[in-house]
Amino acid sequence: MTFLPSDFAESETMTPAFFIGHGSPMNAVEENEFSRAWVEAGRSVPKPKAILCVSAHWETVGSRVTSAERPETIHDFYGFPPVLYEAKYPAPGSPDLARLVGDVLDGNRVRKDADRGLDHGAWSVLSRMFPRADVPVVQLSLDRTKGPEFHYQLGKELKSLRKKGILIVGSGNIVHNLGEMIWGDEAFDWAVEFDAEMKRRILARDHDAVVHYEKFGTSARLAVPTNEHFLPLLYVLALQEPDEKIKFFAEKVTLGSMSMRSLRVG
Ligand code: ZN
Repeated sequence: MTFLPSDFAESETMTPAFFIGHGSPMNAVEENEFSRAWVEAGRSVPKPKAILCVSAHWETVGSRVTSAERPETIHDFYGFPPVLYEAKYPAPGSPDLARLVGDVLDGNRVRKDADRGLDHGAWSVLSRMFPRADVPVVQLSLDRTKGPEFHYQLGKELKSLRKKGILIVGSGNIVHNLGEMIWGDEAFDWAVEFDAEMKRRILARDHDAVVHYEKFGTSARLAVPTNEHFLPLLYVLALQEPDEKIKFFAEKVTLGSMSMRSLRVG
C-alpha cells in the first residue's frame, strides 16, 4: 500500500522545479547578483508544502534520504570566514516526505538517514530562496556508484511529487573545476563553451545530449572533471513535461571555471 500523508494530497497544479548553480559557499552570506537571483527565484513561486533537495555535497553508496525532524546545518567547507560557520538554516525536516520519497522510489530501496543534516549545497541556496526557514526540507543523496543515466531516470520517478506541492531543487554547477579555479570574475573559453553547449541542448530539449555530456570532448572533461556537481541538473531536467518551458537565470561563468547558470522548470 502506498503511503500518502494527507498533507501531500495530489492536486492538478504542478509545482515548478529549480536547478541552482550554487558556486562558492560565500553566496550564502554575501549580497551579490547570484544571491539576489536566488531570493527572486524563491519569491517567484507559491510557498511549497515541502522541499526535496538533491545536492552535489551528499554522495553515498545507494540512495539515501534525510529523515530527521530537525536537520542540523552542516558546515562542510574549509578556510572560510567565521560568519559562514556561524550561519544556521533551521528549517524543519519532514519524516513524512522522507517516507513518500522512499515510496515513490520503491524499486531503488532508499535508506532513511535520521542523523544527516543539510549540507551547504542545500542550505546556502535555500536560506536565500526561503529565508524564513518555514518550509520543511528533505535531501536525497547522490548514489555515487551509478552513472548519469541512472540519475536522470531517478529524476523521472520523482515527477509525481510536483503534483503534491513539493518543490524539487537540484543544487550543483554545470561547470565546476576547483583545480582550475581563479579568484576573479572571468571565465576560461572551455568553461564558456561547455556552459553554452548545455544551454543550447537544454533549450532544444535534447536531454540525451546532456545526460551523455562526456561526448563533448575536451571542454566536457575540463568542465566536469568529477560529475557530482553536474548530476543534480539531470534530476531537474527529468522533471520537465513536454509543454513546459525552461527559464534561465544567474547565467554567468565566473571564477574561471564555475558556471552559476540556474534554471526553472514550469
Ligand atoms: Zn558545491
